[in-house]
Amino acid sequence: MNIKVDSCVCNPEKILRHVNISINSTLLKNKNIQFDCTNSIAYPPFINSHDHLISNWYPKAGFGRTYPNVNIWVEDMKKTDSFLERNKVWINDGSFDLTEEAAHQIVLLGIYKNLFSGCVVVQDHIPKQKKSYYENNPIVVLKNYTQHHSLSMGNWWGGYSAEEEYAKANGKIPFIMHLGEGIDELSKKCFSKLKELELLQSNTLLIHGIALTKQQIKECAEAGTSICWCPESNYYLIGETLDIDACLEFNANIVLGTDSTMSGGINLLEEIRVAHQKFPHIPMKQIFKMITTNPVKALKLPTEYGVIDKNTSNLLLIKKHDEDPFRNLLETQMEDIELMIHQGIPIYGDVKFLSEFNISENDYYFFGEDRFVIGHPEKITDSINKKLGYKKDFPFLPF
Ligand SMILES: [Zn+2]
Repeated sequence: MNIKVDSCVCNPEKILRHVNISINSTLLKNKNIQFDCTNSIAYPPFINSHDHLISNWYPKAGFGRTYPNVNIWVEDMKKTDSFLERNKVWINDGSFDLTEEAAHQIVLLGIYKNLFSGCVVVQDHIPKQKKSYYENNPIVVLKNYTQHHSLSMGNWWGGYSAEEEYAKANGKIPFIMHLGEGIDELSKKCFSKLKELELLQSNTLLIHGIALTKQQIKECAEAGTSICWCPESNYYLIGETLDIDACLEFNANIVLGTDSTMSGGINLLEEIRVAHQKFPHIPMKQIFKMITTNPVKALKLPTEYGVIDKNTSNLLLIKKHDEDPFRNLLETQMEDIELMIHQGIPIYGDVKFLSEFNISENDYYFFGEDRFVIGHPEKITDSINKKLGYKKDFPFLPF
């Protein structure tokens, strides 16, 4: 399959204009079929570096106030309508076994949130689950990592101490932990504790870092420690965010994450817009790096992620609304994604492309006039509606 596009963003530094992209897939009926998509832009599929898949309920869980640190919100959140509504589908009994059926339905909902916003990889920050949790998903849920919730709250949701979890990563896989999610003394103390425990390392990914000072961000950059920026969630919960200008000044490896919809934006596309609205001086190319090449480094992903070439088995094809391919992301809605291919398998887009693949239609859900997605998200929403006794809308689903 060849697709003629307006431009192809191979990586943040290389954009090819008016090029024919060739799709590598063993499923193609006719390898030479030609599509003219000269009003579209090809990108590498995106990576969401921070989510809690089990918490993608809607609307946000809060009372319209911000908190000095996240620990207080975690308690307040349990009284919100959103949390109580989710309880009708799944109640957290403290075991955090998310492979159990009701839990896994909500997790899948979160996976689809990511898929519909152009992500083929998501990091689900949760205690390590059974092997099956990471298998047979429509996109990749990062499997190789160790984690700690936070130094201020400990690993309350399961797993070992921060030092033990870090040791288990063996320097080879990412060690992921929330840090400094607040503006009070408790939040500010976390960085010195991190250093004391010798966890400021090149395979460490810190989430949020709102409390980090400029000097501390410099130390993160020097240590090669990555930081995940979740602006929407930060402003909603704390009213402040990471010192992103310092991060860029010191060239720290910054990745973008949505967090869950109980505190963050609707999806990664909205997160990109929020980042730009709050910090319009940051070049969109930098933000593009935060969802492609930077997370490949932070999450230690195979090199096939975060970049594409003229010959590719991964693709995110998006309608062109802006001549600048990076600024085009600001205009992108779920519906603007014309085709998404992961490892040669079509996963989301317009039916005209799907009909060129040897696939079983039973493996796909068709909606709207001409849209398809891999798997059956409609069965999840049907089941949730049944449990609730009414129809529940999730703004991150396009059907
Ligand atoms: Zn989080």
